Amino acid sequence: MSGSDSIVIAGAAQAGGRAVQAMRSAGYEGRILLIGEETWLPYERPPLSKALITEGGGHEAVHLHAPDYYETHRVETLLGAPVESIDPAARTVRVDGADIAYDRLLLATGARVRRLPAPGADLPGMRYLRTLDDSFAIRDALVPGARVAVVGGGFIGLEIAASARKRGCEVTVIEATDRLMGRAVAPEIGAWFAAMHRSKGVDIRLGAGVERFGGTDKLEHVTLVGGEEFPCDLAIVGIGIIPNSEIALEAGLTVENGIVVDSHGRTSDPHIWAAGDVANQPSVLLGRNLRLESYENAQNQGTAVGRNMVSDETKPHEDRLWVWSDQFDVNLQMIGVADGYDAIVHRGEPTEEGFAVFYLAGGKVVAANTINLGREMRSIERVVAARAELSPDQLADPSVNLRKLIRG
Ligand SMILES: Cc1cc2nc3c(=O)[nH]c(=O)nc-3n(C[C@H](O)[C@H](O)[C@H](O)COP(=O)(O)OP(=O)(O)OC[C@H]3O[C@@H](n4cnc5c(N)ncnc54)[C@H](O)[C@@H]3O)c2cc1C
Repeated sequence: MSGSDSIVIAGAAQAGGRAVQAMRSAGYEGRILLIGEETWLPYERPPLSKALITEGGGHEAVHLHAPDYYETHRVETLLGAPVESIDPAARTVRVDGADIAYDRLLLATGARVRRLPAPGADLPGMRYLRTLDDSFAIRDALVPGARVAVVGGGFIGLEIAASARKRGCEVTVIEATDRLMGRAVAPEIGAWFAAMHRSKGVDIRLGAGVERFGGTDKLEHVTLVGGEEFPCDLAIVGIGIIPNSEIALEAGLTVENGIVVDSHGRTSDPHIWAAGDVANQPSVLLGRNLRLESYENAQNQGTAVGRNMVSDETKPHEDRLWVWSDQFDVNLQMIGVADGYDAIVHRGEPTEEGFAVFYLAGGKVVAANTINLGREMRSIERVVAARAELSPDQLADPSVNLRKLIRG
């Protein structure tokens, strides 16, 4: 491709930043313009609920590339300015009232937090966590003794609950359903995590809805459905995210729970690609489309799509469906998708020393979790990828070498 060729990327975060890197690594010489709504150069989000809160640090602790990377690799950046619209016929994007031309466009616009529609949810003291600036503001507010209400018992809520507790705060988690991490793990794993959090002093309330937040000039208390009220200085809401796909929809691209792409990352417009949290991609393994909200997918799909946009030999991307979460000293890893299973097998005693859980459907292993047992994830992943039909006794026995079983 000639040096006068031009690629525009909307979304300067993980998927967009990795795509840039892949384009230059593949030898692309043309113009790259990275446009970001946030004012920061690309950074990684996982530490925002974990180490950045408990250990401190600024942008340099989470940045994707060193700041001089962009100049060295001739990547132009336009930050603090969202892409407002796309004109696919003219092949331009509109930013701050001006039209910018592209030959190819990557949409890596990710997702934004879902807001809680409760009375009082706009009081000062209410927080959401998605961006670096959100993380800094939460960290400042998590002073020892602060009373913190965390709304939502998913990964983000539980990670921030653990971090707040580590900073000496009084923490209550309010979860509307009867289990933690209900979309991702089996009820017994959720129950194990509830007990673990409680043992560290986190008050976990299951089946508890927020009726309203109250306070005179700032947040002072939260009232649950049913009337119970307790004081809080800070509330952090983690109830899911919404893909930033509006500009794609308005431009006429196919959008259905995110921007629909093929296995190469191409949207319904041949000049536009998408990657990361905003992309709804096919999974051969699952036989359906899905939109992933994970670090590894943003990393690998961003890289694959960046390469595909500039290369004659394109390759499909299929995610291996791996996610992790760190809460206190517990590392949870998940491989595969734990829905539609009909049996569960435990491997090892359920303690912080380490154990695993297999999810079976029709006798085949379709997903697994490890809890402080990351060292076994490689062999467990092979079992899941092979949809292996192994006896529950073999799976349950920690002395059985899973790798050998798969080979045999
Ligand atoms: C606190 C936190 C902890 C996490 N921890 C884990 C973890 O432990 N394990 C794990 O697997 N995953 C984790 N994740 C998820 C992981 O970070 C995301 O999946 C990943 O960040 C997705 O990257 P992305 O580039 O696709 O999208 P995003 O990170 O959402 O970035 C999209 C960027 O595009 C910008 N943008 C949006 N619209 C426009 C526009 N119109 N024009 C220009 N720019 C725009 C946004 O402002 C944003 O900067 C965590 C996420 C958070 C928030």
